[in-house]
Amino acid sequence: MKPIKKIVIVGGGSSGWIAASILAHDFRPEVLEVELVESEEIGTIGVGESTVPPFVGLIKKLGIDEQHFIQNVHATFKLGIELPDWHQVGESYFHPFGWIGTRLGVHDFYQAWLKAKSKGHTSELQSFAPCSVMARERRFFLPQDAPPRTPLGSAGYALHIDASLVAKYLRQYAEERKVRRTEGLVTEVRQNEDGSIASLLLKSGEEVHGDFFIDCTGFYALLIEKSLGIGYEDWLNYLPCDRAVAVQTENLGEAVPYTVATAREEGWSWRIPLQHRTGNGYVYSSEYCSDDEATAKLLSYVDGKPITEPMIIPFRTGMRESFWHKNCISIGLSSGFIEPLEATALHLVMRGMEFFLRFYPDQDCEQVLVDEYNRYMRSEYELIRDFIVLHYCLTDREDTPFWKHCKHMDIPPGLAEKIELFEAQGILRQGDDELWQASSWQSVFEGMGVRPKKYSARIDNLDYPLLEEKLQEMEMAISGMARRLPTHDQFIRERFSAK
Ligand SMILES: Cc1cc2nc3c(=O)[nH]c(=O)nc-3n(C[C@H](O)[C@H](O)[C@H](O)COP(=O)(O)OP(=O)(O)OC[C@H]3O[C@@H](n4cnc5c(N)ncnc54)[C@H](O)[C@@H]3O)c2cc1C
Repeated sequence: MKPIKKIVIVGGGSSGWIAASILAHDFRPEVLEVELVESEEIGTIGVGESTVPPFVGLIKKLGIDEQHFIQNVHATFKLGIELPDWHQVGESYFHPFGWIGTRLGVHDFYQAWLKAKSKGHTSELQSFAPCSVMARERRFFLPQDAPPRTPLGSAGYALHIDASLVAKYLRQYAEERKVRRTEGLVTEVRQNEDGSIASLLLKSGEEVHGDFFIDCTGFYALLIEKSLGIGYEDWLNYLPCDRAVAVQTENLGEAVPYTVATAREEGWSWRIPLQHRTGNGYVYSSEYCSDDEATAKLLSYVDGKPITEPMIIPFRTGMRESFWHKNCISIGLSSGFIEPLEATALHLVMRGMEFFLRFYPDQDCEQVLVDEYNRYMRSEYELIRDFIVLHYCLTDREDTPFWKHCKHMDIPPGLAEKIELFEAQGILRQGDDELWQASSWQSVFEGMGVRPKKYSARIDNLDYPLLEEKLQEMEMAISGMARRLPTHDQFIRERFSAK
């Protein structure tokens, strides 16, 4: 066996430094040398500010002090996403992290709630989600600091982050653990006879050798596409947005503990509050809206004064046909991109690294490992794609050509089956290891006006007056808890203020 002695990462955006930090954490430098090459001449994409709860898990896994991290990347807390105007203009719903309701003995909470609704019960699904209730009240507290067995104890949360500060923070983390950073533009990728990568030639003339390479070059996809020729599977037919315009603004008022993603005429806009500024953007379809129109619309949506010039970002929704080829994996934007509605891109970076370590090869890169990795990544991408398509395809909007298109477009066959199963009896087809668990699917379905036709008859085993009593207890416990918490602003000011 010939172990990998050196891994070279190309690219120093969020994906490059996350990959470097994970390797630096998991390997001693005398076992694995890690070198990261990045070019200031090219720079990073500089967006990517909303995350999902596993991102907090990554910070903890790396042994980073959460408070120190939050203070240095000017983060705020995120309890979920508010989604106005997706189902109908004027309607809004919330997709919370964490759980919704707790099991009633052997019975699933959602089925109990469905039965109660069929009998005219008035409580909303989100009244049983601690994160939705806290978000509504703009309050926050860390679940891990809450007393055990209280509703808050099992709430979830993620962070809103400044992407460039995160890359800077993780760079320092990785360099302290002996990752070598080389500044330079890669001008040529040299390959061995079998097609694997041998070395990178930099503009300076320096040659960087490695046993394994990680392509973190963003949309350039320098190694995986330009050198190894791996193609791209395009999903424009399922997700019509292909551009975004982003602008940062001054903060106005308090920072809310959630992302706002508002459906607009030809796409949707985001608002992400950080401690020192707000990130805003409009994701749109170039078929229905020009760049100038999108920019003007975005500037009319923002509250605070712009502090950057609007930046247009074209993108191609889809994924690599293979994520791992020969001695190279692609991580981050070089591996694919799904529009940032549910802030899943950094999560896919983490999953890419998690699976790489699960199937960690020696220098032979056994094909069976490569195939399994590609299968895992494909499935991960497709699951996230389907969840995003769900937000569009269930719309009732037909007020613009864009929304007419979304309402009637083709959807992936697996998603069509999932919707049918859910509509029948509230059942979800999913695995334990998936990012979006039942509560997420239930929230989007409910928010988009889809409630199952029937509840599962199993719930009839539970005496109905008892069921109602339990629902009432749960709802009161959650709202009582939320009222006692500090506001999100106050919580950050007291414990996590930016350095
Ligand atoms: C509009 C938009 C909104 C987004 N919002 C979110 C969000 O809310 N949440 C989320 O998780 N993600 C989001 N993302 C995705 C997120 O921005 C990326 O996943 C993340 O920034 C990682 O990017 P990257 O590191 O792969 O690429 P980049 O940041 O583009 O970095 C590429 C790196 O490669 C280097 N490079 C390229 N070519 C060469 C070369 N020839 N030689 C040397 N170096 C080279 C560059 O210098 C740079 O360091 C969003 C993306 C877009 C487009």
